[in-house]
Amino acid sequence: MYCNACGKTITDDGRFCSYCGNVVGIPPTPKKLMRSRADKKIGGVCAGLAHHLDLDVSLVRILWFFITLATGICPGVVAYLLGWIIIPQEPLILPVATSQQPVTS
Ligand SMILES: [Zn+2]
Repeated sequence: MYCNACGKTITDDGRFCSYCGNVVGIPPTPKKLMRSRADKKIGGVCAGLAHHLDLDVSLVRILWFFITLATGICPGVVAYLLGWIIIPQEPLILPVATSQQPVTS
C-alpha cells in the first residue's frame, strides 16, 4: 500500500504513514444532513440540503419555491417546517480565543 500524501510504501494494516504521519486506510465518514448556520435565510433547511447534496444553495431555494407553488404551497411549507424541526442544526464553531487580556471595568 502506498501513502496518498507522500507516495512511499507503507504496511497494509497501518493506519498512519510512518514517513509523513498521514492517516490512511480509513474511509471518509458519510456527511450528515444538517441545517446550515452560516448560510441560512429562514431555518437553514435549503442550505443544509444543498450542502449535503453538493448543490448550489440558490438552486435548491428556487426549486423548493417552485415545488411549493406547484403543490399548492401547504405541502412545501409543512415539509420545510418538518425539516426545521427534525434536521439538527450544524454545531456552532466558535473562533479560537486569542491571547487578549479580559476587559475589566
Ligand atoms: Zn506519507
